[in-house]
Amino acid sequence: MENYYIAVTYDVCEHNDLVEDMNQYLLNNKTSIEKQVAEFAKQDVAPLVKVYQSVNRDFKDVQLYRDYHFVDYQCKCTE
Ligand SMILES: [Zn+2]
Repeated sequence: MENYYIAVTYDVCEHNDLVEDMNQYLLNNKTSIEKQVAEFAKQDVAPLVKVYQSVNRDFKDVQLYRDYHFVDYQCKCTE
């Protein structure tokens, strides 16, 4: 059985208790998840990307697969 993956990029500001989802992307199973996630994070300047998996194409029953954190894109509000 094949798994399907979606990545959701999040805007995060711990100082303002903000966690806001930005965009959703369907992952291509033929390329490494890490590589694709890094691209989405860069594109959206997202410090957090969550990847969800589903055994169905309709994504009705999704499970969190992994969180990916990107320190480079963390908010700069204390600087
Ligand atoms: Zn902040």
